[in-house]
Amino acid sequence: MILWALGFSVLGLLLGPFLGIATDRLIDRVAPQLELRCSSCGHGLGIRSLIPVFHWRQKCAECGSGLGARYVSVDLLAVIVFGLLAVRFGVSFKLVPYLFLGAVLVVLTVVDSETHLLPNIVVWPSIWVAIPTTLILSQVLDDARFAAAVMGGVVFGGFIGLSHIAYARGMGRGDVKLALLLGLFVGWVSIDLLDAVRLVLYAMILALLGGALIGLAFNAVMKRGKAEIPFGPALAAASLTIIITSQTILSGFGG
Ligand SMILES: [Zn+2]
Repeated sequence: MILWALGFSVLGLLLGPFLGIATDRLIDRVAPQLELRCSSCGHGLGIRSLIPVFHWRQKCAECGSGLGARYVSVDLLAVIVFGLLAVRFGVSFKLVPYLFLGAVLVVLTVVDSETHLLPNIVVWPSIWVAIPTTLILSQVLDDARFAAAVMGGVVFGGFIGLSHIAYARGMGRGDVKLALLLGLFVGWVSIDLLDAVRLVLYAMILALLGGALIGLAFNAVMKRGKAEIPFGPALAAASLTIIITSQTILSGFGG
C-alpha cells in the first residue's frame, strides 16, 4: 500500500506542471503552451520547466526570478491529494474518478485563492464528466452508489445555494456549482442515502468552521482587516477530508 500511494504521489508530481499550465490559462488567460512561466515577468521558461522538482530551482532567462508560489503550491497539493486518495481507495475502480476530482480541486483551489473565482469552464465540464462516470461505475460495482451521489450533490448544492441567496457576499454562485460537484463525490463514497446526507453535512460544517478560522487567522496575520476570503478552497479541503476519512466516520459515529 505504501508503494501504491507513493506511486500516485509521483503521478501527482508529474502532472503538477500540466495543472500549472491550466492555472495560467485560467488566471492570466494566456494560451496554453508546453511550458511554465516566470512569476514576475511572465516570460516562458521552456519545456524544461515541465520537469518536476528540478523546475523549482529554475531561473527566468529574462529577469532571473524563480518559478513562484503558484506552481509550487500546485505541485505540492497534487502530491498530497493523489497520495492520500490512493491510500483511501487502494487498488479499486473508484480511485479513478477521485483522482480526476483531486486534479480539478488542485487547480480550482489555486485559481480561487488568487482570483476569488471558480471558472465555469472547469466546474461545469467536471460535473458533466462526474455524472456519467459515477453512473457507469455504479453499474459496474452493482450497488446503489449512484443514488447516493445524486443525493449528495443535491443536498450540498442545495445548502450552499440557500446560503448564497441568504448571504450573497459570503458565497458566490461558483461556490454553489462547486458544492454540487463535491456533493456528488462525497455522496458516492457511500451506498446509503442517509450516509450520503450525513457525510455532506459533515463536509459543510468542516468547510464553514475551517474556512472561517483559516480566513480570520489569515486576515489577522496579513493585517487585511475583514477582507473577503475565497470559500472554494475550504469547500474543497473539507470535502476531500471527509472523502478520505469517510470509512472511519461512518463506522465510528454509530454508522
Ligand atoms: Zn522573468
